[in-house]
Amino acid sequence: CGIIGYVGAEPAQPRLVAGLQKLEYRGYDSAGVALVDDALSVTKQVGLVADLDLPEDALQTCGIGHTRWSTHGKPTDANAHPHTDCSGRVAVVHNGIVGNYDDLRAELPEHTFRSETDTEVVAHLVEDELERTPDLREAVAAVVDRIEGSYALGVVAAGYDGIVAARRNSPLVVGHGADGNFIASDVTPLLEHTREVSYLEDGDVAHLTRDGISVWHDGTPVDRAVHTIQWDAE
Ligand code: GLU
Repeated sequence: CGIIGYVGAEPAQPRLVAGLQKLEYRGYDSAGVALVDDALSVTKQVGLVADLDLPEDALQTCGIGHTRWSTHGKPTDANAHPHTDCSGRVAVVHNGIVGNYDDLRAELPEHTFRSETDTEVVAHLVEDELERTPDLREAVAAVVDRIEGSYALGVVAAGYDGIVAARRNSPLVVGHGADGNFIASDVTPLLEHTREVSYLEDGDVAHLTRDGISVWHDGTPVDRAVHTIQWDAE
């Protein structure tokens, strides 16, 4: 339902929590956050963003967050996003529906699944792709080629710099900030940080680091216009 991500110079967790709270108006049944550096740390549960049992003083400067409105699998802690792979290194937040998740799961007999969601298969597919390429953007691009349905995705992996984002038939915007860069499912959570945004197009895969945002389409780098938001959220 709601997606936020941040990579930059400042601790990510407070930015992710504030962003998720700005997305609460959309409605949700559960929430979660993944922070990443050389390791991955995930907190997710049913209920309010304010009630998330988050680590204190988390200093990681990269992470993703989600508010879930269940489509596949009941609202449970295990079904909340972010979803992780078997190794516990990859985390995924997703809006939309992976229509062929059953078929994709069947192609991964070696993987243990811990949720009933359509989303979790994406984390496992990225895990497998990372054995073929050291580039998280390439891995995500290969995975989204196999997905039928709709998605806005935010993906992080332990030891990989930044966030990879992708979309098809579900909105996703990137924000160019002074102290870091953002992804979000709409501009509302970005406005307190930046008014410079780019709208991803269907089929885009973006890589965000502290220093910049690159967008790719069909394996080729593309430019997406930077818009300055003029209106106020309040
Ligand atoms: N289909 C996913 C799920 O049920 C994502 C739902 C959403 O967009 O929040 O977990």
